[in-house]
Amino acid sequence: MLYASTRNQSIKVSSAEAIVKGIAEDGGLFVPCKIPSISAEKIKEMADYPYTRRAEEIMSLFLADFSEDEIKKCISSAYNEKNFGSPDIAPLRSLENAEVLELWHGPTCAFKDMALQILPYFMTCSIKKCKIDKEIVILVATSGDTGKAALEGFADVEGTRILVFFPENGVSKIQKLQMLTQTGKNVGVASVLGNFDDAQTGVKRIFGNEEYNKKLNENGFRLSSANSINWGRLLPQIVYYFSAYCDMIKKGRINCGDKINICVPTGNFGNILASWYAGKMGLPVNKFICASNANNVLTDFIKTGVYDKNRSFYTTASPSMDILISSNLERLLFDITKDEKTVSGWMSELSLNGKYEVDDKTKAVISDKFFGGFCDDISTKASIAKVWNGQKYLMDTHTAVAYNVYEQYVDETGDKTPTVIASTANPYKFNSAVFGSIAPDVDIKSMDEFDVLYALNEKTGIDIPKPLAELKTKEKRFDKSCAKEDMINVVSEMLEIK
Ligand SMILES: *Cc1c(COP(=O)(O)O)cnc(C)c1O
Repeated sequence: MLYASTRNQSIKVSSAEAIVKGIAEDGGLFVPCKIPSISAEKIKEMADYPYTRRAEEIMSLFLADFSEDEIKKCISSAYNEKNFGSPDIAPLRSLENAEVLELWHGPTCAFKDMALQILPYFMTCSIKKCKIDKEIVILVATSGDTGKAALEGFADVEGTRILVFFPENGVSKIQKLQMLTQTGKNVGVASVLGNFDDAQTGVKRIFGNEEYNKKLNENGFRLSSANSINWGRLLPQIVYYFSAYCDMIKKGRINCGDKINICVPTGNFGNILASWYAGKMGLPVNKFICASNANNVLTDFIKTGVYDKNRSFYTTASPSMDILISSNLERLLFDITKDEKTVSGWMSELSLNGKYEVDDKTKAVISDKFFGGFCDDISTKASIAKVWNGQKYLMDTHTAVAYNVYEQYVDETGDKTPTVIASTANPYKFNSAVFGSIAPDVDIKSMDEFDVLYALNEKTGIDIPKPLAELKTKEKRFDKSCAKEDMINVVSEMLEIK
């Protein structure tokens, strides 16, 4: 199986090359040249498999240049009880009106772990296959969640280093502690005196600095990135939609072959795109429900066919979805049009004017298969309270956005198809907003983040996840802050090059 760029189908690479490169030279995203399919019999068979074997079935179809052994090793290194707390990996919880797919049992309590726990192993395998003899340096600028998930994933993975920069005043206290206490011989963390854009620009400059990259090479290093457009981050996400379907068969919620809806709280469009690919492979999906917060550029796009990022940016209670450019949408557009010229045209309109409109045929496919909806912070918090009070199930803010939009969908359509809602974070990860939703009378402004953890625990009786509970007493290993101009020197220092 080969991969090609969404903007130029003549650039063809193996899966190992797609993973090492991350993004194609022309700025496009790598997509599989042909999407493999899975039969209904196979899905039925997979219902009796554990998560790891379900992952083997799906991943081997896409990683044609990996041996069976290599794939098994990547999977068992990532998806085990030590990292995910139980062999379920991504368990399904039944609510009265939907099935909740919990994707946050990994070490950082958010769904980014599902991909970032396995990406490092894909990466080291791919490096060997591509005969790269350098140590890979993953360089990350983060606004919070991705940095910690990448640190956890790459910590102590042979042949790699992981260096993370975060904005000094742009992350929560818990997020900062999560990064500063990171263990591992190959990790480095520093804060940047500036905002997220400063950190991101600094990282991009380092990637683009030819002379510096030459120097890194001479010292045995090569830069790479772990961001969400890497195919190696998308592939692991396809697996859990099949796994959810298998679990629904097992629980007797559906018969094999029955259709389901999938509802996903969406930011960069990676997670929901993985469900789309699962559908292309043969998973019986009726509707893809795309849930946004007040940054509702995708809701408008699904309704009108016009993508327009020229609008106000809102900071919301579901910050991981505060995004105006959903990069992975490009892959969906390519999959529908199969036309690199058209997609390149729309993408250049987007970078020139911040806006494009798809053709009628594409619009028709999207409005047939997708439902787009959004909700603001007030409705998000109301959904958290409603599901907690009514069913004693505690959702984080991102999951609550999805739940709210799913209810809107049912109200509007009356559709009773069994539905899977992707739950993307442990409620403790966004504890202030969650606690505020179920205990509106408590003044949380005077409480520190740890007080809120304990109060939420007291109120709900739900265990505080160990990695968060331990933070208060864990040793801080990093204390470096730098000006944005000095980031390059910090990289040299961390890699001990002159
Ligand atoms: C990243 C993230 C999302 C958005 O996922 P995309 O794949 O970018 O659409 C939603 N919820 C949480 C908690 C996240 O960390």
